[in-house]
Amino acid sequence: MRIYVTHPSIPKFQEYCEEIKEIWKSYWLTNMGAKHRLFQKQLEEYLKVPHVSLYTNGHLALENIIAAMNFTHGSEVITTPFTFASTTHAIVRNGLVPIFCDINDHDYTIDANKIESLINDRTCAIIPVHVYGNICDDVAIEAIARRHGLKVIYDAAHAFGVTVNSESVANMGDASMFSFHATKVFNTIEGGAVCFKDDKLVQVLNDLKNFGIRGPEECAYIGGNAKMNEFQAAMGICNLRHLHDEIAKRKKVVEHYRARLSNIKGIKLCEEQKGVVSNYAYFPIVFDGYKYSRNETFDLLKQHDIIARKYFYPLTNSFACYKYYPTAGAEKTPVACHISERVLTLPLYADLAIEDVDRICDIVLS
Ligand SMILES: *Cc1c(COP(=O)(O)O)cnc(C)c1O
Repeated sequence: MRIYVTHPSIPKFQEYCEEIKEIWKSYWLTNMGAKHRLFQKQLEEYLKVPHVSLYTNGHLALENIIAAMNFTHGSEVITTPFTFASTTHAIVRNGLVPIFCDINDHDYTIDANKIESLINDRTCAIIPVHVYGNICDDVAIEAIARRHGLKVIYDAAHAFGVTVNSESVANMGDASMFSFHATKVFNTIEGGAVCFKDDKLVQVLNDLKNFGIRGPEECAYIGGNAKMNEFQAAMGICNLRHLHDEIAKRKKVVEHYRARLSNIKGIKLCEEQKGVVSNYAYFPIVFDGYKYSRNETFDLLKQHDIIARKYFYPLTNSFACYKYYPTAGAEKTPVACHISERVLTLPLYADLAIEDVDRICDIVLS
């Protein structure tokens, strides 16, 4: 049977049916119904944050929180190209200019030492990415942001449920975006959320995700439509019950990968970060001086019906759609360029059998 890089976690069919029963009674399908309100409250408790705003997907959550900050058109945002298309697109689609900062070569998050030289009087924000669930150097980023009066919005799409020194990552910076896409550690089929501290943003975000409509006769903003519906919220309520067990199962898979692939010459694994309790979202390995290249290993796995991902390749700053963009160009971020040509994320999900992990490792090491 084909093994994909991921496989969604879903509750028992009966459990989901129970959860959506009330929707048949209420006829309330979307627009902040009972499931939406309950799920939002559960997330505020689980993530230990003052405010959560729910979205139909993670990308629109990110677009909306950027829009809510009301930056001057054409302002610059410091971010990294070693991410999913969504991060860079969310900046550009808001009329802002992405300035690509390089990543560091141990956890592939933004290199905080390289941020300050990119700041000028047009800079308005930093949008770092907790890539693979590895947590950015938030202390350094916070200090830089304070010195220069910048907002910090984390793309935390990979970091749901992660804690650092027992603190929820969702409290870092001014805001954090999570994705609940089917392929993520925790899903609501499609879905996403923004966590934030500023009370004033509650109303703005609620307006922005519903066409800017504030009341029956008032339209306050030029908003789009980004609301999470009741069926998504119900899926989230079910999946949240099992998240702890799902992460524990992922941990077992990762431990087995580590046992098999550590200390192999030319294969580099991410080190576990100090004080961080991981969600085991991804298992990236970097081929640097190994007997086979990343691409050769990818092809070999594919011949065995095992679908790994070149995640993240290409870099967003070398996308065709940014070809004529003045700040683009992979050569400006050499570390990100080096890693993206050598990294492969191996299949990882809660129900991945240990025998299959062994089979994958046998092929990689053959
Ligand atoms: C998945 C993902 C997103 C977008 O989330 P969606 O819910 O798919 O819209 C954004 N950033 C990163 C890093 C992601 O992996």
